[in-house]
Amino acid sequence: MRKYEVIIGLEVHVELKTRAKLFCGCSTEFGAEPNTHTCPVCLGMPGVLPVLNRQAVVYAIKAALALECTVHSYSKFDRKQYFYPDLPKAYQISQYDQPLAEHGHVPIFNDGAVVKTVGVRRIHLEEDAGKLNHLGQRLGDAKGSLVDLNRAGVPLIEIVSEPDMSSADEARLYLTELRNILSYLDISDLRMEEGSMRCDANVSLRPSGYTGSVEDLPRVEIKNVNSIRNVQRGIEFEIARQAEFLANGERIVKETRGFDDQSGRTYSQRSKEEANDYRYFPEPDLPPLVLSDVFVREVKDTLPPSTQALRQELRTAGVQPKDVEVILADHSALAFWRQATTLFGDARMVTNWMLSDLSRLLNTHGHSFATTPVSPEALVGLLNLIHRGTLSGRMAKEVLDNMYETQRSAEEIVKDLGMSQITDADAIKKVVEETVASHRPVVEDYLSGKEKALGFLVGQVMKKTKGQAKPDVVNKILKDVIREYAEKI
Ligand code: ADP
Ligand code: MG
Ligand code: ZN
Repeated sequence: MRKYEVIIGLEVHVELKTRAKLFCGCSTEFGAEPNTHTCPVCLGMPGVLPVLNRQAVVYAIKAALALECTVHSYSKFDRKQYFYPDLPKAYQISQYDQPLAEHGHVPIFNDGAVVKTVGVRRIHLEEDAGKLNHLGQRLGDAKGSLVDLNRAGVPLIEIVSEPDMSSADEARLYLTELRNILSYLDISDLRMEEGSMRCDANVSLRPSGYTGSVEDLPRVEIKNVNSIRNVQRGIEFEIARQAEFLANGERIVKETRGFDDQSGRTYSQRSKEEANDYRYFPEPDLPPLVLSDVFVREVKDTLPPSTQALRQELRTAGVQPKDVEVILADHSALAFWRQATTLFGDARMVTNWMLSDLSRLLNTHGHSFATTPVSPEALVGLLNLIHRGTLSGRMAKEVLDNMYETQRSAEEIVKDLGMSQITDADAIKKVVEETVASHRPVVEDYLSGKEKALGFLVGQVMKKTKGQAKPDVVNKILKDVIREYAEKI
């Protein structure tokens, strides 16, 4: 019997891909020479004034609407004070008690079925900090640290979930759907390995019989994990660690922990700070953010179809729920699927070839649907040959391998290799007649009731046609020819 219930809430930071930073005109481009995208504002020089980036507000509203939040007509900015070398002002401009949006929902799916709906507590706008590069393996034994302020001031939204998830797997499904939803809005690169999407996972165990509030449970916050897989691993480790504490009658301390990719373990970083450690106060240099209904509605009108609408589109076309999720998670796959399905018509067959044989080739060669050497048109060329009966499924797989390598069309390859499956009834009939004429004793055996004899004759025909005849067609023609033969004698 389980003695506790797992409680998980996620805080996700998403970098918005505006051209300029949140409060200055510096570029947000990733990967530039350190400290080249900086100015007095994002370097925190005294006397400078921040000016809010309108595009960042639009992107944040888009995210809020897509996550079914209420966008507040009035929100404001606050200073969150802390001292760390990646933050030159010694405070971060964020939103504290009056965030941009609240009360959203993210449905989570497993193999296409809704598992549950996770609440979104709030979404707020804030600026990113700079990036520290530690010279050494770990902070502890670093020879020194370098600071790069290119990222300081890049716009972020923080999406704070309710503590509604109860397993590492649900956390994975939440992040997957969150990423799906945001990706279609095209407001962020969402690259966890580059840090444009970052996740902090809060984990606690509620012992059975605990009657206090969930917020009061001592929770551990696992900071800045760099992939969905690692969020899942970190949570799994943390559940086991805390369960052992509880089993031993020990208390869990509220703390911030890091995740070590190599060992899959979390490790203590610092005791968890409380909100009042930050001395939040309203940002005096920025006016409140006041949004009119008209403005929010205008942004709403630019939203692309929701992931729910896309799911519907794929399912209506006959794609299996499990495959729908795979296609949905990858824009290029969806674009490929749409194009191929429009050209070919049979969505299921397109999906099967995309997700089995073509995906296998893409994976082996480190490609994706964004870089695939076999275009939707080319795949449809192959599917048409199967549809017409020119190629069997087995032959088509061989042709696809060849298409992938040579980037030639299916038609060309088939012609070159003389691969076509013979379906022409007249051509087959000729071979069948020859076979019947030269194997009379076998034909007599068949006529006297030895069913097996027919198999031998089919085999002879296949041999003569080098396997290019369709066995079912051969079978039928063979029976016809033998019937004619029997009538003659
Ligand atoms: P903080 O700044 O202290 O991290 P936030 O309000 O930004 O606080 O985020 C709190 C997060 O912790 C939310 O995602 C919330 O769902 C989650 N949370 C609250 N209580 C628990 C709990 N008992 N166990 C796990 N997560 C929790
Ligand atoms: Mg937080
Ligand atoms: Zn700047």
